[in-house]
Amino acid sequence: MLKVEEIGLSLEIEDMLLNSLLVEGKKHYPNEFGGFLIGNYSNNNKHLKLTDSILPTKYKSSRRNFERTTEGIEEQLKKMYYEKPSKFYVGEWHTHPNNSTIPSSTDISAIYTIVNMRDSCIKNPILLIIGYTKSQVDFGFYVYFNNKLYRYE
Ligand SMILES: [Zn+2]
Repeated sequence: MLKVEEIGLSLEIEDMLLNSLLVEGKKHYPNEFGGFLIGNYSNNNKHLKLTDSILPTKYKSSRRNFERTTEGIEEQLKKMYYEKPSKFYVGEWHTHPNNSTIPSSTDISAIYTIVNMRDSCIKNPILLIIGYTKSQVDFGFYVYFNNKLYRYE
């Protein structure tokens, strides 16, 4: 289980799901790729379980940039919401091919955009960055909390 001790948040994700994101991401090498993270909270919203990912149908990507749209994913989101237990959009993930898991300035401003969207009900979005090379992979999980980005360790 991953934690941010300072603010008492924890997160879990199955290796199988994590690996499937890496596989999807690598298909787009050398460009970045990513999608939406789905999951649910327990324990007073302190613990998050990531359960699924939805891949965007429309996006723009390059070696150092990834922009997705939410076009065409509303139906999938709705379906997951009505599952028992209910699942929600909780954040985003994307790859950094041949690069580290450190969020770029674009990544950080994207997080601010999510938090400030008028219809957004997520106050603490998750950002997963998968940094990979031919021989190495690093998963960087971050959470936006009180105007700061914290990394889960
Ligand atoms: Zn990035």
